Amino acid sequence: MAKAAAQDVQFDLTSKGIDFLGYKALRGILGGIGKSNFGSHDTPYLATGTVGRFDVETGAMTDRTGGATIATFTAIDSAGAPARKEEARRAAGRIPALVNFLSRRLGPYPFGTVGVVADWVPSVGYVLENQTKPHFPGTRKGPYVGSSTLAHELAHQWMGDSISPARWSAIWFNEGWATLMEVTLDHAEGARQTPRRYFRTVYRSAPRRWRIAPARLDGDPRQLFNSFVVYNRPGAMLQGLRMILGNDRFRALARDLADRYAGGNIDRPGFLAATKRASGLRGRKLRRLGDYVRQWLLWERRPRLTPADF
Ligand SMILES: [Zn+2]
Repeated sequence: MAKAAAQDVQFDLTSKGIDFLGYKALRGILGGIGKSNFGSHDTPYLATGTVGRFDVETGAMTDRTGGATIATFTAIDSAGAPARKEEARRAAGRIPALVNFLSRRLGPYPFGTVGVVADWVPSVGYVLENQTKPHFPGTRKGPYVGSSTLAHELAHQWMGDSISPARWSAIWFNEGWATLMEVTLDHAEGARQTPRRYFRTVYRSAPRRWRIAPARLDGDPRQLFNSFVVYNRPGAMLQGLRMILGNDRFRALARDLADRYAGGNIDRPGFLAATKRASGLRGRKLRRLGDYVRQWLLWERRPRLTPADF
């Protein structure tokens, strides 16, 4: 496992009235002119300094899985209309419930703070899972925070931010987990699609969609955010693993990954080894599990193995 070196970053703020949202320790990094210590950390992936004019609220929550107290915050673009800001604030108010939903499945929340930045820059065009604080660009009408997207971005705090991809061709790891957690939350909140049905739907997708292997991406950076290849195929692979391993062992897999790779990077062999350890399988079934993961990540056609083969 490769551990990134700890890095200190400091921002010098030269304009008044600008808020600065740093990383990790919330205290002392909000607002003001002068120097803001960005914090020392060992996972540089998407660790971000955020600068702007925000309505900032702070609070605290308890991670019921790990027992830790986590500082919370919402930062909403001050320029938004009051009703829009209130709507974004209400959506952000679900963060403690979402963190606990995820920590039950993925293990204790990996950072000391959690929040959201609800900006109003719709031209950005995408939501990003910045470490400890997903950034939402808003819509034309103002700041906006969508609930299942928020769950997706929060899942990245475990899978993607704390455990980072060793190289871009491992982005399937980030997006597979986040997509599966989004599907799982949507179902828990009333969506008809169960995670099992999600697996079946993905597996039935047209043959042409399987031509690019998630862990190879044809070596083409344009495929990095291909929704089927990078999000849904790996998401379905993980749901298949949950069906093969069962909920308890699947949860153990997430925790094993955190134990070994939090603050570091993961690659496909590391993931495969963790999956085998968590599976409790032996002999032929263990080898078949290796084949399952390889087919889902490396084949340039539809995988042959599904949970029905275990
Ligand atoms: Zn994502």
